Amino acid sequence: MSEFTTPTTAAVLTPPARGAIATVSVQGPEAVALADRFFTSLGKIGVCDANVGRILVGHWQAEDEPIGEELVVAKLAPELVEIHCHGGVQASQRILKHLASAGCQVQSWQSRTTSEHADAIIAEAKLELPQAVTSQAALHLLDQANGALTREIVTIGNLLDNANFEVAQEKLDHLLSLAPFGRHLTQPWLIVIAGPPNVGKSSLLNKIVGYDRAIVLDMPGTTRDVLHATTALDGWPVQFSDTAGIRVSDDEIEQAGIAKAKVALKTADLAIVMHDATDLKPDELDQSLKELPAALHVVNKIDLADDLQVPESGEMLATSAVTGQGVPELISSIVSHLIPNVPQAHEPIPFTSRQIDGLRQLHQQVQQRQIDDALQTIQTLLKA
Ligand code: GDP
Repeated sequence: MSEFTTPTTAAVLTPPARGAIATVSVQGPEAVALADRFFTSLGKIGVCDANVGRILVGHWQAEDEPIGEELVVAKLAPELVEIHCHGGVQASQRILKHLASAGCQVQSWQSRTTSEHADAIIAEAKLELPQAVTSQAALHLLDQANGALTREIVTIGNLLDNANFEVAQEKLDHLLSLAPFGRHLTQPWLIVIAGPPNVGKSSLLNKIVGYDRAIVLDMPGTTRDVLHATTALDGWPVQFSDTAGIRVSDDEIEQAGIAKAKVALKTADLAIVMHDATDLKPDELDQSLKELPAALHVVNKIDLADDLQVPESGEMLATSAVTGQGVPELISSIVSHLIPNVPQAHEPIPFTSRQIDGLRQLHQQVQQRQIDDALQTIQTLLKA
């Protein structure tokens, strides 16, 4: 088939996991002829003669193989055929092997998606969608797959064409303010639980995620490594890290754990710094925990403290990791710290580093009134 300038390609569109049905898409000038070569319809009409839109049931078999498979072939366009075979990996891989032996190029679903869309942002949204771990995150990505961000960037281009630089600049400011949110549509927000030993860090983690992820022991210095647990808070993906209690220690392993805790704190989107209600000494807190830029301070074990005196300075939440008291309020507080303004449905949001870097460059070019360069950046942002 090398004489064709446009190759015929095949790609498995369904995930490589157990499933009832797998779908192989064949696209290109030879798609119909290739399907006809291996597929015998149960009815009188084969793929070549079938009208577009026709769904055929029949038998798929290679000439040199003793048995074949019953399956469904859908002719979706003159150069597009879908083969719906048994689910899992084996059946679809066998079909790909047959097609490849007849000269068809095998593609990944990612390459197929990219090649189907001239618009780079829409292609990126479709590639990122399977990485969204919560339905809320997926809905925002779906808006971008439906063109929300593309339309906004086109609008910014039109504003620049009309010398409406201030409005273009405002739109870019707003888009860039949503960049951290956009990046977290496919990567969880990182929350580190830190504090002195024995304040209830592991207990609080377990309470929030709803199962015993971390070992809880009434023995200071038990957590030596950084433990992770991923969950969703109000529909947003978050990863909690439970860290070693930060204190002065001679124990070499504990010291290594404390060092890891401090590294985790540096990359966190939010730190939860815990205090013990039965032994409240915020002034004695390790320096590394006192001045964290993004921290929520939590006084835990309030079930044990009858006359709790919460220090007046700063915001302090009160919880009991045993009874669950204060935990819903803590969760609300975490969410509003991480996402102070939830974007509206259908709002344009940049969500990849390529887009965010491009928008930053565009912002700078508009600021410096380098409009030709800015229009070029827009072209690059939109074209794959
Ligand atoms: P960590 O070292 O900070 O991770 O603390 P742990 O979660 O291992 O808890 C240390 C001890 O305090 C355990 O015996 C827990 O059961 C207990 N504990 C933790 N949180 C609470 C709480 O809110 N109330 C009570 N009564 N005990 C708690």
